[in-house]
Amino acid sequence: MDSNIEENLETVRKKIKVAAEKNERSAEEIKLVAVTKNVSVDRIKVAIDAGITDIGENKAQEAKKKADELKKDIVWHFIGHLQTNKVKTVIEFADLIQSVDSIKLALEINKRAKQISKVQDILVQVNIAEEATKFGIEKGEIGALLEEIGSLTNLQARGLMTIAPLIENPEKLRPFFMKMKALFENIRALNVPNINMDYLSMGMTNDFEVAIESGANMVRIGTGIFGIIRE
Ligand SMILES: *Cc1c(COP(=O)(O)O)cnc(C)c1O
Repeated sequence: MDSNIEENLETVRKKIKVAAEKNERSAEEIKLVAVTKNVSVDRIKVAIDAGITDIGENKAQEAKKKADELKKDIVWHFIGHLQTNKVKTVIEFADLIQSVDSIKLALEINKRAKQISKVQDILVQVNIAEEATKFGIEKGEIGALLEEIGSLTNLQARGLMTIAPLIENPEKLRPFFMKMKALFENIRALNVPNINMDYLSMGMTNDFEVAIESGANMVRIGTGIFGIIRE
């Protein structure tokens, strides 16, 4: 069972390499975040032993518990929708909060981070396909949010994140990923103080190859590593 994790990881890494090379980059330029929602600590340890350094979780309490248990040199990513009342919990363990999508949330993270003398790295989550059901900020509102974030002393913007629409054929997602890449480069070219565009986080099990081919340098993969996990 657990040997699957190692095999799956090897397959994922090979695919990352091929996709990166298509995009004239090397596999080392792509950060792999293993998404471990609903995955037990024992199975996470197998992935860590196989070289996983970055872990993504989408629920505050579950993530906090695992982070406490796994005390290792792991980089913790919070990738789920974040309610303001959970911010206090999340900033205790998260190295990178990937899901900042409102000024209200940015202000709360900044306030709580200040209280524990932390500068919190964040990504701005973009709803690139403008789906009514999705979290993330719409393109037109990003300027105002980044301006606000730029002024907050305990927040550090490190890039953008998106969750692509649920479409079976990942090829159909290419235009969305290309739009994200263009947005990322445009913001980077603005050189706004306190706004760094280091990470473009896009691509999940079903679509990470197309995302990398389009310019992603961080992918978030769950089922591709751990298999399908039921709650
Ligand atoms: C669950 C999740 C992933 C991983 O999805 P898989 O399809 O299992 O690879 C990536 N990003 C976010 C935000 C998630 O919630």
